[in-house]
Order: sequence, then C-alpha cells, then structure tokens
Amino acid sequence: MFASPPLDARSPAADRSPDADPGRLRPSSIGGATLVGAGPGAPDLLTLRAVRAIQRADAVLFDALVDASILDLARPDARRIDVGKRCGRHAMNQAAINRLIVTLALSGAQVVRLKGGDPLLFGRGGEELDYLRAAGVPVEVVPGVTAACAAAASLQVSLTHRDVARSVHFITGHASDGQVPAHDWRALAASGGTIAAYMAANTLRRVAANLIEAGLCPTTPAVAVTNASRPRQTHVHATLATLPDLLEANPPSGPTLVLIGAVVRHSQADQDAQHVGGLAA
Ligand code: SAH
Repeated sequence: MFASPPLDARSPAADRSPDADPGRLRPSSIGGATLVGAGPGAPDLLTLRAVRAIQRADAVLFDALVDASILDLARPDARRIDVGKRCGRHAMNQAAINRLIVTLALSGAQVVRLKGGDPLLFGRGGEELDYLRAAGVPVEVVPGVTAACAAAASLQVSLTHRDVARSVHFITGHASDGQVPAHDWRALAASGGTIAAYMAANTLRRVAANLIEAGLCPTTPAVAVTNASRPRQTHVHATLATLPDLLEANPPSGPTLVLIGAVVRHSQADQDAQHVGGLAA
C-alpha cells in the first residue's frame, strides 16, 4: 500500500534494547494509535487535542469524508494513507485497516486514525478499538464534533429543548446489509425526542414511512443538511412526509444528515418573534 522509509527517530531500532522481545520493549519503543475525530469538515471545528495528535503523528490513516485542509496539519514527512478512496478504487476493508494500524504502531509509529465527525459514532471505531486493544497497541480516543451537532449548530436548532424535546436519538438509516435497520420505530416515535438520522439520504422514504406507521405525525418538521460546516453546505426544510420527495427530486451531493422533530421548527426563518422570545426564556 505504501513504501516504507524509516518513520523517524522513534523507529523501533532506535528504542529497543538489543535483546528486546515484543513483550519486553521499553514503553517508548512501541508506538501507539489515536482514534481522532476530524469533525464534520471545517478545520476550525477540530479540537485542540485533535490538532496536536495530527501534528505529532508519524502516519495518518484517513477516511473519504476527511477534509484535505485537515490533512495539511500533519507533518510534511508523515505518511498520509487514504483508506477510504471511493472514486475508481475500493476503500480498504476494515480488516486491512485494523492490521495496518497495528503493524505501524507495533513498529514504533504514532498512528492517527482520522475519522469524520466523532470517531465512535457510526464509523466502526468500536471495532478498531477492540482490535487494537487485543493486539496490545496503546490506544487513545479524541472525540470530534459529530455531524448532528454541526448540522444543528449551523441551523441554530437546539437538539434538546425544554418542553419540546427531552432526548436525542442518533440513528443510522443504513444497515450493513444496505437495508433500513430494524429500529424500535414505536419507541422512537413515542419518545418525543429529536431524531438525528445518519446515512439516511437514500433510505429516507423507508425511514419516514416506518416512523409515520409507528405513530409519528407526518407533519413533524424535518430538515436535511448536506455538507454541514463545509463551504457548500445546503439544507432542505420540509416535513417528515414531504422530505423524501424533495430529496429524491434533488439528490444531495455530499454527506447528509436528517434532523426530525419539533425542535426543527425553531430553525425556520419565518418563526414569529413571540416564539423566539419564548425560546430565550
Ligand atoms: N462519525 C461520523 C459519522 C460517520 S457516518 C460523525 O460523527 O459525524 C457518515 C454519515 O455522517 C454521513 O452519511 C452523513 O449522514 C453524516 N455526515 C458526516 N459528515 C457530515 C456533514 N459534514 N454534513 C452532513 N452529514 C454528515
């Protein structure tokens, strides 16, 4: 996948005693892995901790959704490894990614696994963590701004709101078999909370139908936010019943997050001043 020049002074040869075996290395002889949340796209939504981890990394493995300007933060000599190529080439499969992180870390590299949004939300970060821990790789996690929070912030939607929504449900609209997952739609509909649907742009018709069948009002406000926090951010306001048609007529080009719930109404420009006053109270 990549040519392997020596990583840097932290390479194993520099740190190991001559008789070292893998179980008896001094702590500095082994590298480590950090799962870093790259946030929704805008570089200034990275945490300081994320920036520091990227800057000290010997190797950065990144996903398709990670913005190029964020990769520019890495040292010039750091390896940048695209494990999520979509155009023309297949993304590296999860098992290969896991093995690559372990190989690099056990050879002394500080590896950053850069994942869009928060690394432990819908990004298979949990599988990577399990694998790395089992392989004895020291691992850290740096949280990131997840897409739902970025989308909500950009539209000034409060995901929870006293008397309007007391819970938030992060759901995926896309199971590993490509189908809509078998969520407990009744519980979701009855919760009265805000639903943040990831990976649901292509399955929204089914997601909406399931929620409506489970009792959620078809006129519940819904908004699809594409490219949240990025220069080409767009959004489409509608209702649970009408949003699927609008998205089908104008398929979004970019990662899209759907927020469903009464709080979405509060983002609309035409809300009356009285209501805004109520929100501020
Ligand atoms: N770990 C990520 C989610 C990965 S799943 C996070 O915490 O945000 C990928 C899905 O996230 C996309 O299909 C889309 O639903 C959502 N997403 C990621 N970035 C986004 C963005 N900038 N704008 C809107 N949705 C985004």
